[in-house]
Amino acid sequence: MIHFIGAGPGAEDLITVRGARLLGEADVIVYAGSLVNPALLHYKKESCKVYDSAGMTLEQVIEVLTETERAGGAAVRLHTGDPALYGAIREQMDRLDELGIAYDVTPGVSAFSGAAAALTAEYTLPRVSQSVIITRMEGRTPVPEGEKLRKMASHGCTMVLFLSTGLLEQVEQELLAGGAYGPDTPAAIVYKATWPEQKVLRCTVSTLAKTARENQVTRTALITVGGFLGTEYERSKLYDPAFTHGYREASK
Ligand code: SAH
Repeated sequence: MIHFIGAGPGAEDLITVRGARLLGEADVIVYAGSLVNPALLHYKKESCKVYDSAGMTLEQVIEVLTETERAGGAAVRLHTGDPALYGAIREQMDRLDELGIAYDVTPGVSAFSGAAAALTAEYTLPRVSQSVIITRMEGRTPVPEGEKLRKMASHGCTMVLFLSTGLLEQVEQELLAGGAYGPDTPAAIVYKATWPEQKVLRCTVSTLAKTARENQVTRTALITVGGFLGTEYERSKLYDPAFTHGYREASK
């Protein structure tokens, strides 16, 4: 069996209990060394072989995983955050399907959850935003026409940008071109959320690039944007004494 595991956003105790157990049982681990905290390798057994996928191709990764499996061993492919987001796991799973090799997936805490925790923020606030757009600025990997950043920015909801820290001038332009955010709309750059070296940089849409430059943040950061970072919101109906719902009668 091959296990795809979400490592979580960084802190070594933010992997799931299941993920940590599977790491402990693995004979081989292929991990994304550029993003996964190497401290997570503390969970492995001594005899486990470790490969850093940063310098490997898809074909090489599949070969290491399948060789282990054919020899009767347990192989783990460790991805940062949750593997379902920008994890490139589909292409690996499709190869394994072609080869008739069984695998499973253990989810992880995504960096966008780690960033909200670092910000001590809630992405979905009544009367502010009830949706979160997770997207990226187009770079060398193209983005489908209907998902260009300026289109996504036309909603004005909470937005979390992955893989875009090197393109912040364009990000600012595109966010403003969407028409729903202004130059003063609150934004934040969260660098290495949940890692010991985490940085939380609060700014606005028009100061994203400058803030990243001044703080030498060029990668491994998320950009969050929207009114959820502001001070205005309405309290929830769920815990409102005047509101009756399936589990509680209104008390006044
Ligand atoms: N599957 C991962 C995302 C992988 S894409 C997840 O669910 O989190 C890699 C990008 O994720 C990085 O370029 C950066 O934008 C973001 N990222 C990953 N870990 C991060 C962290 N701890 N803090 C901030 N951003 C992070």
